Amino acid sequence: MTKKQFRAESKKLLDLMINSVYTNRDIFLRELVSNASDAIDKLYYKSLTDESVNLDKDEFKIKIELDKENRTIKILDNGIGMTEEELDENLGVIAKSGSSLFKEMNEKNKDVNIIGQFGVGFYSAFMVAKEIQVLSKSFGNDEAYLWVSDGDSGYTIKKADKDTVGTEITLILKDNTDTENYDEYLESRRIEGIVKKYSDYVKYPIVMDEVETKTDDEDNSSIETTEKTLNSMIPIWKKSSDEVTEEEYNAYYSDKFYDYEKPIKTVHSKIEGQVSYNSLLFIPSHAPYDYYTKEFEKGLQLYSNGVLIMDKCADLLPDYFSFIKGLVDSEDISLNLSREVLQQDRQLKLIAKSIEKKIKSTLEEILEDNREDYEKFFDAFGMQLKYGIYSSYGMNKDTLKDLLLFYSSKDKKRVTLKEYISNMKEGQDKIYYACGESLDKIDMLPNVERFKDKEYEVLYLVDYVDEFTIQALMEYEGKKFANVASEDVSLDSPEEKEALDKKNEEAKDMFSLMKEALADVKSVKYTNKLKNHPVCLSTEGAISLEMQKIMNSMPTGEEVKADIVLEINENHPIADKLKNLYENDKEMLADYTKILYNQARLIEGLSVENPTELTNLICDLMSK
Ligand code: ADP
Repeated sequence: MTKKQFRAESKKLLDLMINSVYTNRDIFLRELVSNASDAIDKLYYKSLTDESVNLDKDEFKIKIELDKENRTIKILDNGIGMTEEELDENLGVIAKSGSSLFKEMNEKNKDVNIIGQFGVGFYSAFMVAKEIQVLSKSFGNDEAYLWVSDGDSGYTIKKADKDTVGTEITLILKDNTDTENYDEYLESRRIEGIVKKYSDYVKYPIVMDEVETKTDDEDNSSIETTEKTLNSMIPIWKKSSDEVTEEEYNAYYSDKFYDYEKPIKTVHSKIEGQVSYNSLLFIPSHAPYDYYTKEFEKGLQLYSNGVLIMDKCADLLPDYFSFIKGLVDSEDISLNLSREVLQQDRQLKLIAKSIEKKIKSTLEEILEDNREDYEKFFDAFGMQLKYGIYSSYGMNKDTLKDLLLFYSSKDKKRVTLKEYISNMKEGQDKIYYACGESLDKIDMLPNVERFKDKEYEVLYLVDYVDEFTIQALMEYEGKKFANVASEDVSLDSPEEKEALDKKNEEAKDMFSLMKEALADVKSVKYTNKLKNHPVCLSTEGAISLEMQKIMNSMPTGEEVKADIVLEINENHPIADKLKNLYENDKEMLADYTKILYNQARLIEGLSVENPTELTNLICDLMSK
């Protein structure tokens, strides 16, 4: 018989997993039990529509058998089973999501923790087994097949004998070594502990034989075997929250939502009232690899009194909270609702509203009580909250505005808008912000200098959505947002302003000549907001330089243009030099203007349109 090879990516995953120090090997049992439970589900669902399945629901079970002598563990189920093709397809290759993940992993050279992003499933059994045999008979088929593999050199499938429909998985444990002991998995206590910890809520009985030696009155001993059920079969969300440990919640989360990193927060609620429901919500601690792609599907599992009716009910979550994982179980939702009707369902809408409130208040609590966790959360999903504000043109701002964090000029740490307001200087009536590629670059911007000097706090916007978000917010607690690079933002007193206006008026003709030398610029003027820098750029109107850069990099077609103002530090020696040139050498004034404008662009982190012209101008000047 020829051996088939695992697909390249499964092989790699296998190696990675088996050798990963990160992975907790106990989970193999959870994975196999949960596959068995899924297989029983499938047969059960079939029995609802297919009359040829006449099964007694009470007979469904998962059985574990331990054999110390042969060092094997067996997991048996009476679920739907697998055909020859299914054995080949399901156990020979890894789920599709796995392969695309590998691509990404190779590109980014990510660490092995990424395994945690999807169900490692069946393969995890190779962490404890040197050989696995899967004997299966599919429902509706007369033939049974045996799949065998050592996880390393491929696998074989051959015809075999099995009376009943279902699957029987035999793990032949790895040999013990000096450092690793696999015999622990042959102890029924140990297995019972693992089942309780990870699979307690599984809705079919997980049984194991218990052997008892009985002695009768005449001193004859006999061996009696009874079947013991290891799991309580109560869904975790139906238990009271003080009955469930954090570890159990986390185990449930990682099993059902394929994330091996524990959630930042678990929220278990029982709501009674206008609408009654139980919910179990998880805030993940990191974004799934496909979160910010079109492939990502939001939604909560929807149960009607313990029966799953929809795996991803999108209507239960607003887009800006799409990262939430979890489930809702309500008796008020009818089992027979179709998808279309569901969307209109009043009960569902009420539940969604109540869930949204709960998520919001939970996030606020984390923000209040555990800043470190909140920042971790915000690193993963802050972008989604900001996007939620600007994509709705500010409609959701009341829900989201207090959940935002922005970097600030004070220690370059993140602050909420509320914190910013409480730090405002007396008489300050605006929330100042500056945009740029990085905190350090913003910190060095000429426009920011004066604000920091006068001890105004400035928000540093480094994400490309930040400025759009702020524009959609428009104001916070009555304070408008103001870009420090906006032409009309000034810290001058009325007297200072008047003096500056006068100087600008006097130099009007010189400025219009300078403007002629610059095609891109709307106007040129003096400023007294600069300290050491000779020049800076500002903009008039709603489009800032950052927005111009971002919007023009988007494939929307239409080009936007900011109205650029070249501002000259009137206290810098260059101001006198320009005046001098205006009187004596107008041609040279044009060259100086071009150089100064390009310098300002460089300081702002913008590109220079014509570098050759600029270097020639500077060289000419140097040669004089
Ligand atoms: P996942 O369960 O995440 O899909 P696995 O690697 O654990 O990934 O399993 C792959 C597939 O093999 C399952 O989706 C299922 O179709 C099939 N399978 C595994 N175990 C069983 C079983 N006990 N009975 C029937 N089918 C099974």
